[in-house]
Amino acid sequence: MQGPVGLLALQGDFALHAQLLADVGVDTVEVRCADDLTGVSGLLLPGGESTTIAMGIERENLKKPIRDLAAAGIPIFGTCAGMVLMSSSHLGLIDMEVERNAFGRQIHSFEADLDIEGLDGAGVRGLFIRAPIVASVGPAVSVLAEIDGSIVGVKQGNCTAISFHPELVGDPRLHLQALGRAGVPSGESGT
Ligand code: GLN
Repeated sequence: MQGPVGLLALQGDFALHAQLLADVGVDTVEVRCADDLTGVSGLLLPGGESTTIAMGIERENLKKPIRDLAAAGIPIFGTCAGMVLMSSSHLGLIDMEVERNAFGRQIHSFEADLDIEGLDGAGVRGLFIRAPIVASVGPAVSVLAEIDGSIVGVKQGNCTAISFHPELVGDPRLHLQALGRAGVPSGESGT
């Protein structure tokens, strides 16, 4: 039996991720403190305001438990602010430096079609909202997606981060892949 996917629920759009995953039969649990991580089979760090979420992680002493999950091989998936949190300056789950709000103040949001390395089917519609880009990566990091030469998706072992929002366009494929649920038929949670 596979545990639910934890959704870090300190701030941000975790409820939309819960809905997207529910639609494909994946159970989720909201994570606000370390105890909530017990038994999760994956962890999602949502978009929102990375400074606010980072303060919550400090306040709730979640840094070590999240790092321990990653070290135990549990899949961890960060989107947008979640990508910022996974970088070397925060949780250090992926060997990368990110630049916040990197597409300029005037470009608050835009959409673009993206080819994702290793993802079956059509490209992903990337919706970018005050999105970060990955400024540099270490040797263990694979690049999953780029836009105009800027890195917007990366993977290191069981940790995946993207700077856009599939939950807002209703595309669960990256979630399923990043959380180790690819191949689970829609409507079955595998539990
Ligand atoms: N600009 C936000 C930050 O750096 C991220 C925006 C988002 O998650 N949509 O925290």
